[in-house]
Amino acid sequence: MSNSIRAHQEWDWVGRFTGVVVVSLVLAAAIGGMDLFEKTFVITGKLSASQLVRFLGYSAALAALWMMGRRATIALQQSGGRWSFLQHLLLPVITLIVVASTNSVALLVLKPLMNPAMHNVYNWVFIVAILSCAAWVLMAVLGQSSPLTEALTSAAESINASSKIRVCDNCSTSNESVAKFCKECAQKLA
Ligand SMILES: [Zn+2]
Repeated sequence: MSNSIRAHQEWDWVGRFTGVVVVSLVLAAAIGGMDLFEKTFVITGKLSASQLVRFLGYSAALAALWMMGRRATIALQQSGGRWSFLQHLLLPVITLIVVASTNSVALLVLKPLMNPAMHNVYNWVFIVAILSCAAWVLMAVLGQSSPLTEALTSAAESINASSKIRVCDNCSTSNESVAKFCKECAQKLA
């Protein structure tokens, strides 16, 4: 009982972070949708107050999402258990989602300010960032297969070892490949 309460408190922050994400998104969409903000410009004809508010709201939501992923990873590392396999995968996946979303969120304020050449550079920065995150996810998945790799390699080792068993000439006992004397009769092994 006390354990489940403790576990519940440990994961309590998930609700708060989710709240920050949802409220940021709702506020950004609602306030950004107001006529007052849409028709007021930070840079005349280019950047409206609505775009700025959406940018700030969506950025806050993405930041909260990433911090949630980071904190969940730490909690998973500490708690262990059957969900611990997620600890290597969660942060790369959330980072990939956040980076991919940041691309369009940052465009809200940057697109009116960039010329086509700058926009192309901007796109490349995000292409590299997204591919790096994808590679990170892939490495995390590969990292998860390491117990399998270990199992396969140790099986191969034991097969190898069994083929090098030394059989005693005197009593026919099987000895390890590295043994110099028989473990049964102490005969010197060839
Ligand atoms: Zn022997």
